[in-house]
This record gives sequence, C-alpha cells and structure tokens, in this order.
Amino acid sequence: MTMPPAAPRTVVLTGGVGGAKLVLGLAQLLPPEKLTAIVNTGDDFIHLGLAISPDIDTLLYTLAGKANAAQGWGREGESWSFMSALRGLGGPDWFQLGDGDLALHVLRTAALAAGRTLSQITADFARAWNIGPAILPMTGARVATMLATDAGELDFQHYFVARRCAPVVRAIRFAGAAEASPGPGVRAAIAQAEAIIIAPSNPYLSIGPILAIPGIAAALAAARAPIVAVSPIVGGQAVKGPTAKLMAELGVPVSNAAIAAQYRPFISALLCDTRDPPADPGIAHAAADTLMHTLEDRVRVARAALALAASLGKSPRP
Ligand code: GDP
Repeated sequence: MTMPPAAPRTVVLTGGVGGAKLVLGLAQLLPPEKLTAIVNTGDDFIHLGLAISPDIDTLLYTLAGKANAAQGWGREGESWSFMSALRGLGGPDWFQLGDGDLALHVLRTAALAAGRTLSQITADFARAWNIGPAILPMTGARVATMLATDAGELDFQHYFVARRCAPVVRAIRFAGAAEASPGPGVRAAIAQAEAIIIAPSNPYLSIGPILAIPGIAAALAAARAPIVAVSPIVGGQAVKGPTAKLMAELGVPVSNAAIAAQYRPFISALLCDTRDPPADPGIAHAAADTLMHTLEDRVRVARAALALAASLGKSPRP
C-alpha cells in the first residue's frame, strides 16, 4: 500500500479524533520519514496538577494502534481504578482519566518539571511505541483556546467536556498564540514539505489555534507546497462534535464555502465530500467520499488529499 520512493514529503495540520483518522490514512501511504503531523495544543490544560495534551495523546494512541475506536477517545482496553478511587475521595470526576492514559500525564508532568520540552516528551512517547511519523506540538508555549459563551468565558475543556458544548459560543480567542513561537521542527517541516494537508478537524477549535501562531502562519504563507484542506462537512453536517453547532452560533452557514472562507488565504484547494456542493468557484476543489469509518476509508481520503495536492503542483495560491 505504501507509495513509491517519490512519495511527497507531507505535513498535516491536525486536532484530535477527526484529524487523527486522516493522519492514520496518510501513515498507510507514506514512508514514516515523509510524514509530519503538526498538532493543536490549544486544548492542553492542567488538571489535578497533571499536564494533559488531549490532541497529541489522541494522535499517539491512534498511530500506535492503542485508540479506543468504539468510544471515540482514550485508550483501548483501559481500566478505571484511578477514577473510582478518585471518586471515592470526593475528587472531581468530570474529566475521565483512565489508568493507562494517566501514565502519560504523570510522565509528561514529571518530564516537564525536570526541564524536558513538550516536543521532546512527545518524541519520547512516540519512540516508546515505535511510531514512525513525526508528531510535533504546534508550540511549546502555553496557548489556551478560550470561548466567550452565554455562560461566561470557558476554557476548551470546561466547554467541551464539563459543559458538553451546550453553552452558546459568541467568540473564540487563542490566549498566548500571538506571543507563541512554532515548536521545534515546525517551521522547517512546513518549508521542506511538498504537500501540506489540513485534516478535517474542527476549523475553529482545532486548526484555528495552529493558524493563530504568527510563525506558523508566516511559514504556511511562504511554503512552496500546495496546501489542501479536507472539509469536515459531510452531507451538510459535521460528522461529529460541535463544528456545525459552533458555525451556526458564529453566524456562518454549515457549508464548504464557509470552510474555504475560514482557511483563506492559506489553502490552495479544498477536498469536499461528494454529498455536498463544492466551495465557491474561487478555490480549486475535488470531491470524494470523505466519510472515514474503516481503515480503508482513511486510506482512500488520504489518497484523494495527496492526489489533489499533486494535481496542483507548484501553482501559486490565490
Ligand atoms: P477533536 O479534537 O477530537 O474534536 O477532533 P478534531 O477537531 O480533529 O475533529 C473534529 C471534526 O472532524 C469534526 O468537525 C468532524 O466533522 C470531522 N470529522 C470527523 N470524522 C470525519 C470523517 O470521517 N470525515 C470528515 N470529512 N470529517 C470528519
């Protein structure tokens, strides 16, 4: 299934579960040294003193074959002794921490305290699990996705997990992004890429923080590779999560045109689902079945995204 040696050096920008599906598909097609994932850390937070990086961990679990497919988050075969002990002591139980998941957070917290960087720790975990593609945190600086809602300003986890996305969102900001530098390797990966793909992650909550880092935005603007976004819209709806609800609350139609507008001026093309009208005529596009249930689906969408990028060659972005 692997592509010939001419496989393009590929960078993928991604959030958690939805994005990881495409990264797994790309990982089936590309040799590991040709694939770099730049991952959102705007959802990262400190909970019970532990440094938690949900999107990085989702990618680690997915690429290591340890993700819980049925549940849609966390680890396969997880046990919950810690949570039950925590609950018995009256501790907070709104954020689920499985025993295996906890091991990552404890190790990461200890390593950060000992002076290792988030990038180094992520690489350590990837090495321990024989993950070939590079997984790069978007930044080592603290960036926090904050949502202004009808229930006040909430950080991402309090909005997403504790309040189950119920509050109406008025605005989103990425605290710390303007001052943050790209993580180690991020600029170089973008500059050297022959294809850059934006995974069908939530454009506002997962990709938004990545694009809000000025050094990343500048690197993308200067990149020689075509930039292809895979739309998260399928059949006029987001496949899962709050994307469609959020778009409605922000006054944006749930459409490929809105996704293209959100990613302008970065993208060269949008990969849309065959069920939906394409984006506006101003942006190149291709259509494919982008719904990813099986591994074969993930490979099919990855192949379509790479093919769209290859078809654009070195043509300048609009
Ligand atoms: P999170 O960080 O776990 O919320 O996940 P992401 O932000 O990476 O992905 C959430 C987005 O992925 C949602 O907007 C979904 O519409 C989209 N998504 C999830 N599964 C699929 C799929 O199979 N196909 C497409 N096109 N989009 C998907």
